[in-house]
Amino acid sequence: MKRLSVVGCLLSVILLGVWIRCGPIPQIQPQTTPTIVDRHGVILYEPLSLGGTRSKWITAIPDNVAAATIAAEDRRFYRHVGVDPVAVARALAHNVKHLRVVEGGSTITQQVAKLMLPRADRSLTSKIREAVIAQRLEHRHTKREILALYVNLAPYGQQTVGIARASDRYFGCAAEQLTVAQAAYLAALPQRPGTPKRALARQRLILHRMRDLHMITAADYRIARAERLAFERGHHPLIAPHFVVHLMDPSKTFIQTSLDANLQREVQGIIAAHRADLLRHGAHSAAVAVFDNRTREWLAWEGSGDYFGETFGGAIDGVTTPRQPGSTLKPFTYALAFEQGFTPATVIADVPSHFATAEAGVVYTPRNYDGRYRGPLRARAALAGSENVPAVALLSRIGPESLLRFLRHVGFRDLNHTADYYGVGLTLGDAEVTLEQLIEAYAVLARGGDGVVSRRTAFWITDILSDPNAREYIFGSGGSLDFPFPVAAKTGTSQAYHDNWTVGYTRELTVGVWVGNFDRDELRNSSGITGAAPIFHDVMLAAVMRLGGGGGPIVDRPSDLERQPICALSGHRPSTECPAIESEWLPPSDHVEFCSWHHREGVELPAEYRALDANVRTAEPAVLHVLNPPNGATYLIDPTLRREFQALRLRASAPVTWIVDGRHTQEEWPLRGGKHTITAVDGEGRCDSVTITVR
Ligand SMILES: [Zn+2]
Repeated sequence: MKRLSVVGCLLSVILLGVWIRCGPIPQIQPQTTPTIVDRHGVILYEPLSLGGTRSKWITAIPDNVAAATIAAEDRRFYRHVGVDPVAVARALAHNVKHLRVVEGGSTITQQVAKLMLPRADRSLTSKIREAVIAQRLEHRHTKREILALYVNLAPYGQQTVGIARASDRYFGCAAEQLTVAQAAYLAALPQRPGTPKRALARQRLILHRMRDLHMITAADYRIARAERLAFERGHHPLIAPHFVVHLMDPSKTFIQTSLDANLQREVQGIIAAHRADLLRHGAHSAAVAVFDNRTREWLAWEGSGDYFGETFGGAIDGVTTPRQPGSTLKPFTYALAFEQGFTPATVIADVPSHFATAEAGVVYTPRNYDGRYRGPLRARAALAGSENVPAVALLSRIGPESLLRFLRHVGFRDLNHTADYYGVGLTLGDAEVTLEQLIEAYAVLARGGDGVVSRRTAFWITDILSDPNAREYIFGSGGSLDFPFPVAAKTGTSQAYHDNWTVGYTRELTVGVWVGNFDRDELRNSSGITGAAPIFHDVMLAAVMRLGGGGGPIVDRPSDLERQPICALSGHRPSTECPAIESEWLPPSDHVEFCSWHHREGVELPAEYRALDANVRTAEPAVLHVLNPPNGATYLIDPTLRREFQALRLRASAPVTWIVDGRHTQEEWPLRGGKHTITAVDGEGRCDSVTITVR
């Protein structure tokens, strides 16, 4: 009986021993919280885990880290079996001496057990549980593996868990790059030293122990003691938040993006620098994106200019928010017209016109921004000057159906309504699109058409949008759209001035800017050329400076296009009677149409320019006269005066559009040497010309 109970006891002890060593341990999930970086590895954002920490799991533990950790936590680590009676005894003695708990006597293995258990406290039950788990860890893992678990699971302060994040957070380097002094400093942190001063004191103690334990030589010790620790100035960045949130993916721990963090910062700085100007226009938000035409990657992406500004919806991403694009859609109307046989020399009527709409009996009468009409306008000038009437006239020729199909094909995916729904407003930008789509669509042109449109069309549109002379008659010269390298650019303003846009491209980059309010508050004193354009200018310059490019033609000229002379007014091949001759990139044609508008007796415009409201016709003088300058006059340029102050004021007997040497111009015409033909054209197709000489 007695023997039986002894055997039973023995068996129980063995079973208990087996259970202690071999029982289950909590599952360990190697945890790495995500890091989102730019194209060069610069950190854009590091979100926190649900527990409010950042972590990174590593498998190989650097020797410096291993040595410093053992010196700091458990100098007999390699000699005990998970629990260290010597350490417990020493801790007890210390605690009795100080009459309070100053040392725990826990081994590294016990601490790993504690970190693995969800609810560990300082109770005796917890201590026993930790000791049991420590036994199981020792049974299943090598010492080096247990050490790796510890440095991956230990908290190092500043919301970091694990040595890898801690190295990066405190010293801006990887764990394997830590010096002895740095490794010793970090090894001091899991015990929560409280202040940096106490952490440094503990670091010295750890270095001391490392030397005493022969982990480092006396020379290493001296070097480590002498090292002045340089800490990372710590803040966790949030660069390009609008872009980053699109990419958040819980299944990924490392996300490399296409962004360029430096360019992104520069874009944010540019918006900030224009903030006062934006507010003057009543605009609280600005969205900017920079696109690499070749790789089709986003290089910068700013959604509002102020992600954390709550009053005006800063977290809304203006790059992906559909808005009315205004005139920025016009180039696509012209592109389709060019695909269908129009050329930049084709003349379009900028005269008071009425267009039928889908609604029976309802006609649409488009107006230009300045309320004026410019008579016959070549497509080049009409697009560059962003005139509304010719754009609607073009649309009525090509049809809203085919324009809508074309716009969807170019990438405006949100145009879900029917052509009847949009009507002629389609070319004036009443249909909502996003800045993202707008930029991608312009990039199609920058790439030479990309198979969506012909290279010829892409070249023509690009050549017109990068022609400062062609837009001068509306927008003046100089200013935000002028660059020291070719840039094709277009501005736009939505109906009722809610949105202001500028989009443009070089061969390499496309930049888009939207300015407005997410609550659709109206802008003040804002046209296509204010608000967005100055930001566009600065961003384009910054992007080209940083990423290069900008030299050479944007789109290579197709070999079948040649500079050919045209009559400035009719766009046809000039006859001997044409007073002003321009040139245009045109394909050689076997059928050359000569100008039939100019005769020896003067000019006679086609009927469409004369078909007018009878009331207007009777109310105004029948003949149009250039009043200033007088025909045949000679002007002298004063060499002592600056050029911009020497302008000639052009005047006529009625409101007119001015054409000097075939080029539309403003009323204040800056004097240029030579012989010049000055033509006045009014909205009713009447015309008068004078010739002057400037010396
Ligand atoms: Zn002519």
